[in-house]
Amino acid sequence: MTRAVWRYVSHTIRQAPEGGATYEAFCVAAGCGAESGAHDEQEGPQDWALRHAGRTGHGLFRRVCTDHARVTRET
Ligand SMILES: [Zn+2]
Repeated sequence: MTRAVWRYVSHTIRQAPEGGATYEAFCVAAGCGAESGAHDEQEGPQDWALRHAGRTGHGLFRRVCTDHARVTRET
């Protein structure tokens, strides 16, 4: 029989602004599949969605914002 000994150390997770963020928009109209691509600023996908809606009449978009998190060990 084997015994495992686990030692737990507390960690904290926080948003890490230094990692930046990315913003994307995806058209969800049936059969479209158009995407804004990843941008550093929220305005990029927003402007893309407005232009795409103007060209196609598609009006519903899935938006994704991705940030970074840093985990640090408690001392
Ligand atoms: Zn579309």
